[in-house]
Amino acid sequence: ATPMSIIGGVGRAAELGILVRNADALQKASNVDTIVFDKTGTLTKGEPKVTALLTFNHFDESVALEYAASIEQGANHPIAKAVLSLAQEYNLNLEHEPEDFRTLKGLGVSAKVDQQNILLGNYTLLQQHNIDASAANRFFQTESEKGATVIFLAVNNVLAGVFAIRDPLREDSVEAIQRLHKQGYHLIMLTGDQEKTAQAIAKEAGIDQVIAGILPEGKANVIRQLQEQGGKVVMVGDGINDAPALAQADVSIAIGSGSDIAIETSELTLMRHSIHAVADALALAKGTLHNMK
Ligand code: ADP
Ligand code: MG
Repeated sequence: ATPMSIIGGVGRAAELGILVRNADALQKASNVDTIVFDKTGTLTKGEPKVTALLTFNHFDESVALEYAASIEQGANHPIAKAVLSLAQEYNLNLEHEPEDFRTLKGLGVSAKVDQQNILLGNYTLLQQHNIDASAANRFFQTESEKGATVIFLAVNNVLAGVFAIRDPLREDSVEAIQRLHKQGYHLIMLTGDQEKTAQAIAKEAGIDQVIAGILPEGKANVIRQLQEQGGKVVMVGDGINDAPALAQADVSIAIGSGSDIAIETSELTLMRHSIHAVADALALAKGTLHNMK
């Protein structure tokens, strides 16, 4: 493209709510074939809510919720917000500051709350501590199949509760995904979440392929592998976790409501928080936008 048409493209992108940090990006975006989406906050709204809570071993709901919320005060995962807002609905005042708080990458969180050892996170976290979570099997299966993320609470290495957490798709994600399909892109969801949950959400969204259970540092490796297989890859993400994958991709797109690091790493930023803006950006890059509108 001539400099004039690149500048024109940048201006047109701005009208569509797409900020272009690097004008080369539009050029590169014209020949990508694979789009990799982060799940939480990108395809979904990023506002998860607790939709079910089940307790075990004589823990009652408010006690389980109090431990879970106390520990999540130290975390900044969207799951933490969901748990804290449920605690607020229950009018719990969290009296115990967590001690020795730790974020366990890709697994959950741990701390001491009121002298008790608390673990909160995914199934793998409980497995790693040899905690018997079989009583929660049915809940885990049925909720995951509905697209909920299930997190497990253990108190002193005993299963105390499970939470189903749902984060719905953005309203127009399904339609925008259909549009990208028609344009012939291979669509992949990349997430740290569990396989079943991710599959359910991918099916609802119309995404072709799911790569689940990936630790934050693994996301960039997945992009590299796709590139080694000959893919020209766009990564679309919003989280701190996504920054290395965004940096590795041929073209990077950040959701404007996302973390600063994701935005700073990305060549394109979507001020319109919609997957339609991804389709617009790619169509604009190809010079086919007028056919789409
Ligand atoms: P993602 O945000 O894509 O799910 P993460 O690597 O941040 O990826 O988290 C992976 C999984 O670890 C989450 O799906 C969740 O099960 C668990 N997890 C992470 N942080 C927390 C937290 N603060 N509380 C409970 N579970 C968590
Ligand atoms: Mg995300």
